[in-house]
Amino acid sequence: MKDYQSLLEEIYAQLKSSVGLGQVADYIPALAAVSPDKFAIAIETVDGQQFQVGDAQERFSIQSISKVFNLTLGMKLSGDTLWQRVGVEPSGNPFNSLIQLELNKGIPRNPFINAGALVIIDSLLDSLEQPNKEMLNFVRKLRCQDVFYDDLVAASERETAFTNLALANYMKGQNNLRHAVQDVLEVYCYQCAINMSCAGLARSFLYLANGGVVPASGEVMVASNQAKRINALMMTSGFYDEAGEFAYRVGLPGKSGVGGGIVAVVPGELSIAVWSPELNDHGNSVRGIMALEEFTSLTGRSVF
Ligand code: GLU
Repeated sequence: MKDYQSLLEEIYAQLKSSVGLGQVADYIPALAAVSPDKFAIAIETVDGQQFQVGDAQERFSIQSISKVFNLTLGMKLSGDTLWQRVGVEPSGNPFNSLIQLELNKGIPRNPFINAGALVIIDSLLDSLEQPNKEMLNFVRKLRCQDVFYDDLVAASERETAFTNLALANYMKGQNNLRHAVQDVLEVYCYQCAINMSCAGLARSFLYLANGGVVPASGEVMVASNQAKRINALMMTSGFYDEAGEFAYRVGLPGKSGVGGGIVAVVPGELSIAVWSPELNDHGNSVRGIMALEEFTSLTGRSVF
C-alpha cells in the first residue's frame, strides 16, 4: 500500500504560487469567471484509497473530458462499427479543425476532437432515448454521485457553437451523421457542460485503470480490450495537438478539458485528477501538466 498524501502535499506546495503562466478559457462567460487560483489534485487507487489536496471537492466544468465517457458508452453500445465512422489517429491540428475534416472526407481523425465526439454522440442517439440522462447515470455507475449539468454553460456552448455546427453540417453532407444536426449539437453542448470535482473525476476513471471494471462494484463498463483501446486513444489523442508533449513529459494516458481539468490513469494501480484553470496555447492546463509531470517523475509511475 502506498501513501500518496505527503507526495500530493509536496507537489501542491511547490506549485501553489505557479499562477499567471496561462489564460483561463474565456470563450464563454461562465468559464471566464472561474478563479485562476483554483488548484486541486486527487488520487484514488483501485483498492479504494483516496488522497486529495486543495479544492478537490469543488465541482468544475470538465468540458472535453466527457468525451471519454461518451466514447466508452458508444463502444459499449455500437462496438467496432464505430471505427467505420471515426479514426484512431492523433490529429496534430486544433481540436475544431475544419480543414482537416475536409481533407479526411468527413471522417474525423479520432473520437476526442470535436468532430469525432459529434459522431460518437450521433451513434448514441441510435439507441438512447434520453442521452443526457443516460450519461449522468453512466457516470454515477462509475461511483461518482456528485455529477451534474451546468445549464448556464450548456446554453453558452449552444450560443457559441458556430464552428461545431460547421463541423456537424459538413459531416452530415458527407453522410457521416445519421441524426439531425441540431439534435446532435444539443447533446454535445450538454456533454461539454458536465460539472464534477477532482475527487469525483479520479474515482470515475478507475475503470480505465482496472481493465474496464469498476473496482468497488465489479461492474464491467467495457471489455478489457476496449479499455486498452480507450487508454491508447487517450495517450495518442487526449491532449488536443499536444499529445506528444504530454506523453513525453508525463507518460500516462489521460484527457484534458478547457475547464482546466486533466485526468490520467496508471493502469493496474490508480487514477489521478488535477484541476487548475489556466491553459496554455493548446488548451491544456499549464499547472495541471506540471503537477502530473512531478507525480510521474517522483514516483516513477508512468507507463514507460
Ligand atoms: N466546449 C468546447 C467546444 O466544443 C470544447 C471544450 C474542450 O475542448 O474542453 O468548443
